Amino acid sequence: MSKTADVIIVGSGVIGCATAYYLAQKGTSVIVLDRDESIGNGGSARNGGGVRQSGRDPRELPLAMYAVKNMWPVLSEELGINVEYHKEGNLRLGKTARHMEILQGLTDRATACGLDVKMIDGKEVREINPFLSDEVIGASWCATDGHANPLLTTLGYYRAARRLGVQFFTGEEVVELQKVKGKLRKVVTQKNVYEGDKVIVAAGYASRKLLGTVGIDVPMSNDLIEALVTEAEPKMFGQMLGTADADFYGHQTDHGSFVFGGASGFETVNKDNGHNMTSGITAPCICRGIMKYIPKLANAKIVRTWAGYEDVCIDGVPVLGNVDEVPGLIVACAFTGHGFGISPIVGKLLAETALEEETTLDLSAFRYDRFHAAI
Ligand SMILES: Cc1cc2nc3c(=O)[nH]c(=O)nc-3n(C[C@H](O)[C@H](O)[C@H](O)COP(=O)(O)OP(=O)(O)OC[C@H]3O[C@@H](n4cnc5c(N)ncnc54)[C@H](O)[C@@H]3O)c2cc1C
Repeated sequence: MSKTADVIIVGSGVIGCATAYYLAQKGTSVIVLDRDESIGNGGSARNGGGVRQSGRDPRELPLAMYAVKNMWPVLSEELGINVEYHKEGNLRLGKTARHMEILQGLTDRATACGLDVKMIDGKEVREINPFLSDEVIGASWCATDGHANPLLTTLGYYRAARRLGVQFFTGEEVVELQKVKGKLRKVVTQKNVYEGDKVIVAAGYASRKLLGTVGIDVPMSNDLIEALVTEAEPKMFGQMLGTADADFYGHQTDHGSFVFGGASGFETVNKDNGHNMTSGITAPCICRGIMKYIPKLANAKIVRTWAGYEDVCIDGVPVLGNVDEVPGLIVACAFTGHGFGISPIVGKLLAETALEEETTLDLSAFRYDRFHAAI
């Protein structure tokens, strides 16, 4: 068992696994470390599966558009596992004049960046999805958005990376990064020391503490959000749904169950000794919202609810790329609750960065030092 590789990746979420896969494809030796006993047990195993371009920050939109155009459609075949990708569109729903204003603003921003998204009225909404209630007066419609299964996607990247020789070590909590002769080299866990020419930190919110060991700070917070899954229902629709109010989002899975996420507003104040807690209020609150939009689901049974953390960046987009002050260090965190949809292209871009290749897309908008005071 070697503890040295060309690249060490901290974190085996979908970002770590995808990056490992694209690196290994080019013959690079890679070690992935995770503190958990299983891989991908952070946000990557808990998310809503949205593969969406609409509603994204203009800085992030080129990444989402590239992934939807070039990567998601071939991912199942490439990884040898059905990631349950569906490109059947995203309806972001509105029920009030204020909602329509919000949707118009998002649509204008996205079309200015070249995304094919448009505003439609209530009648057109129900032609696309007849299950939506008459309370919906309009929506933004992006026909090329979609959804996929986050567990299968993460597993697919993990297995494909392993087939190419990537070593994964679980139960390895990284506690410190160390430089050797001015360059990042050592990754110290509670039990071992690993060494690599490049180190990619993709550990979600925990990246903040780790990066702090080499003097780098990423301004992000750790937000707990909740989701739920219903019993399997007969096939109803294939679109991803969201709302102008962000009171819920979700889709129907291949298995027939609906996965929905949302918020009650209580999450931010419901704390135990400073720590976020889940509450019995959130799921009923999400469901009350859903029933107004999709009355047919009024009797759907909830099988399970769960919570997961989002690494929320102060300016709403991730931090990606090289760190000038710490040669050898590459950061990949602060995905702000929308990292799954862009994970294939982020993995590819990080692999290119680690190999010092020209990147397929420009990463400069995501630099770690964009928060520094202008001199
Ligand atoms: C409820 C919910 C719904 C969401 N819905 C969507 C959606 O619909 N669409 C979308 O695009 N995104 C969504 N997201 C966001 C998405 O899940 C994340 O952006 C994405 O999974 C980030 O992947 P990651 O690999 O960076 O992080 P993670 O999956 O969190 O992986 C980080 C890994 O680092 C490991 N780690 C942490 N600290 C250490 C350490 N010190 N040493 C070693 N390992 C460590 C963790 O154990 C974990 O496995 C949602 C998130 C949540 C929580």
